[in-house]
Amino acid sequence: MASSKQEGTSAAAEQLGSMSLGESVERKDDDAEPTARNGTTSAAKVCSACEKKSDALMKCRACKCVWYCDKKCQNKHWKEHKKECKSIKEVLDKRGGKLDVGTELDIGPLEKLPPREECPICMHVLPFHDNLHTYFSCCGKVVCCGCDYQHQIKSKGQVSCAFCREPKPRSDEEILARARKRAELKDPNALCNLAMKYGSGKNGLPVDEVKCIELLRESADLGFPGAQYNLGNFHCNGHMGLEQNEEEELKYIKEAAEGGDFPSLHNLGWMENDNGNRTVAMQHWRLTASGGLKESNHDLIEHCFEKGLLHHGDLAETLQAFYLARAELKSNGRDQYIKYLKNTGKYKEEYDC
Ligand SMILES: [Zn+2]
Ligand SMILES: [Zn+2]
Ligand SMILES: [Zn+2]
Ligand SMILES: [Zn+2]
Repeated sequence: MASSKQEGTSAAAEQLGSMSLGESVERKDDDAEPTARNGTTSAAKVCSACEKKSDALMKCRACKCVWYCDKKCQNKHWKEHKKECKSIKEVLDKRGGKLDVGTELDIGPLEKLPPREECPICMHVLPFHDNLHTYFSCCGKVVCCGCDYQHQIKSKGQVSCAFCREPKPRSDEEILARARKRAELKDPNALCNLAMKYGSGKNGLPVDEVKCIELLRESADLGFPGAQYNLGNFHCNGHMGLEQNEEEELKYIKEAAEGGDFPSLHNLGWMENDNGNRTVAMQHWRLTASGGLKESNHDLIEHCFEKGLLHHGDLAETLQAFYLARAELKSNGRDQYIKYLKNTGKYKEEYDC
């Protein structure tokens, strides 16, 4: 029997097979409607597939977390939702269908997402993974991989900046001259970039750990989360000549998290969790999951909901926000770039974070 993973219409067909069509969604007036932590009904319902707001939506019958216009919308979204839906349903089944077990913690209302950096061309929030956006030292802009890829295709081999059209530097000397010029302008991203070139001896530079840390600190002091994250990491591992120091690590990761860096906020969640601050950890993960970070969403289900620490209503609210954020992170250009990476064997699973 064929057991390979299938995509697209086959995935939808799989769902139709696994749940009888008439039962895959249920009406909003069902009494098992997800409720927020304080017992009130969750805020405006939104279809997780087409983002339509309506009171007449139907709820996914399996996980009881997300809403759809109809079975068509649900099937369209199944590829995105399948993994989480199955994990949540498994937990609910173990509990005999109970949404909560009574040991859940009160994590308060969902905070508003902090402003996040957008691609200046498509205006979509930048993807999380560093390899899916590019910093251009000509204009200092960070452009998403989708827009960069589209531009490279359109300009047929004329390698230039997707934003300002400046030809890309062709030699190490040119790369370093530009990087230094922007670093002198105190562009925090450029300082961090140049720091990491010194740290790894890139573009013909000799490895210089002292210079690397000096530039990173300068960038971190200007509030650049990427530099704060790197410094935190080096203190965690004792790299780049820095001593292993948990306090320093926490300080830098906190700064990066406060600056809106979601992977840092996710890590901070684990640090809080390990110190026994589970409520704070869940608050961090809920925020980052609602901004579309997959690992936070996964940890909320596997480490919090499954253990009876997180209310089903809070999970449902987060999951709805998660899908809206994931849609915001997508664009045709980005999809095409991912396709290109997959076709050329350059794609890595970690990009999908
Ligand atoms: Zn819909
Ligand atoms: Zn579901
Ligand atoms: Zn873009
Ligand atoms: Zn440029």
